[in-house]
Amino acid sequence: MEVAMLCTRVSLLILILSLCSPYKFIQSPMDFGPLNLLPTTTTASSDFGRILFHSPAAVLKPQSSRDISLLLSFLSGSSLSKVTVAARGAGHSIHGQAQALDGIVVEMCSLPAEIEFYKGGEGEISYADVSGGVMWIDLLEQSLKLGLAPRSWTDYLYLTVGGTLSNAGISGQTFKHGPQISNVQQLEVVTGRGEIVTCSPSKDADLFNAVLGGLGQFGIITRARILLQEAPLKVKWVRAFYDDFSTFTKDQELLVSMPDLVDYVEGFIVLNEQSLHSSSIAFPANLDFNPDFGTKNSPNIYYCIEFAVHDYQHKNTNVEQVVDVISRQMSHMVSQLYSVEVSYFDFLNRVRMEEMSLRSIGLWEVHHPWLNMFVPKAGINDFRDLLMDNVSPDSFEGLILIYPLLRDKWDTNTSVVLPDSGSMDRVMYVVGILRSANPDGGCSHHCLQELLRRHRRIADTAGVHLGAKQYLAHHPTPSGWHQHFGRRWERFAERKTRFDPLRILGPGQGIFPRSD
Ligand code: FAD
Repeated sequence: MEVAMLCTRVSLLILILSLCSPYKFIQSPMDFGPLNLLPTTTTASSDFGRILFHSPAAVLKPQSSRDISLLLSFLSGSSLSKVTVAARGAGHSIHGQAQALDGIVVEMCSLPAEIEFYKGGEGEISYADVSGGVMWIDLLEQSLKLGLAPRSWTDYLYLTVGGTLSNAGISGQTFKHGPQISNVQQLEVVTGRGEIVTCSPSKDADLFNAVLGGLGQFGIITRARILLQEAPLKVKWVRAFYDDFSTFTKDQELLVSMPDLVDYVEGFIVLNEQSLHSSSIAFPANLDFNPDFGTKNSPNIYYCIEFAVHDYQHKNTNVEQVVDVISRQMSHMVSQLYSVEVSYFDFLNRVRMEEMSLRSIGLWEVHHPWLNMFVPKAGINDFRDLLMDNVSPDSFEGLILIYPLLRDKWDTNTSVVLPDSGSMDRVMYVVGILRSANPDGGCSHHCLQELLRRHRRIADTAGVHLGAKQYLAHHPTPSGWHQHFGRRWERFAERKTRFDPLRILGPGQGIFPRSD
């Protein structure tokens, strides 16, 4: 064991020297003792955004937390180099957040995919202990076998537990249960210093809070304890259409005020035929909605609310009646309310159907210049106007999501950045401009750059005038990050000094350049 360890240390030293030399690339798998360190791969230098492609010098495929600890303790004990390390989950970031130019990418999916369940008795909580590289879809499949499921989700499930917990993890359940980071009880983290720490709200709470929403800056999440609840068998999934934005948001706020009845609330803007149909694949209701979209110079825009009610069947609730009680209070367009019943699994996995459909026509692996923003309730009408000034309804490809979240479901001790609560509003909105830009469809380099410029304009204007904050943020300069964090910057920077003093982790975010 001692000899193996010595070999690893010597090999890591060789790696660092090779990274520092002008001939820095590893040409073949190297013997790093027990460490599985390989030459770079194209996967490690790309992500869902397809905007940035930063090649690492090497990829670590860890077999245990100890492998990651070994790497980080070695790097943090060596002042020889400026080598950086990025954890990579499923690589579904947009702007290279999980990349490490000339550094080392740690492929979290290589960790053994362990999932252990604890099913609580009457009145007790149930949870799952899962490896950081496990995808939510796998956790769902396994937990459903026990009649359980996590409480809080993202729309898409082929994302890793560590990846979404490093951001927040939001979807239509967030108003009710909070983001995924509010539904974790304990983490195992390898800090930038290489220490393996089990932390929770009552033990090493500062590390626990730092890492949640921490953008991969303080440690690598190798294990997480996720809260579970009883899973419904089916879901009643409802869509209602609107031709007026204020009525749409008013009804969304009505729905989130009824957590005892409603289990999920989202919504999207219907800009054109494509946005209506692309978002309907997973909704097989016989939609009889043929809106007049107007003309290019005078477009008509519509809005759709989605809500869902869980159907436990054995609980003797009549879901039809619940939907009826809810919908009678809503003010959607006359006759424009549709519902379907689907299995809980299909409901949660609905974006997979979109993915398969887009893949089949070559439209999944295209550029994705996405922008997500948290917008205070007071600014949501102005944000909608700003958005429409920067979007051409007739040619927009993709989806624009808008739905309300409730501030008190978020723990402000975590690293996540929300708009400052200047007013007493409990509600804030998330707006996701989920654009596709297909190079084969005419959106080449210049077109992509123009879309990115427009999104930056929206983000900057909404930041300055409406107090909005980016979610899954991207800022090209450290000063942009200072502004983003605002009064939370000092705490974030202090946590960095404590848990990753040499700024080894998370270079792809561009918050703490190592060369400073
Ligand atoms: P990666 O992209 O691999 O990594 C993201 C960041 O986390 C990087 O900084 C990385 O270094 C860091 N990281 C990764 N793993 C770890 C770890 N174990 N420990 C510490 N740091 C780590 N988000 C939502 O909240 N709600 C949604 O509904 C939603 N829908 C999406 C739909 C699609 C189709 C896509 C592509 C993305 C969606 N996202 C959504 C965004 C997604 O949650 C984030 O991009 C998330 O980071 C992706 O997880 P990942 O495993 O791919 O992480």
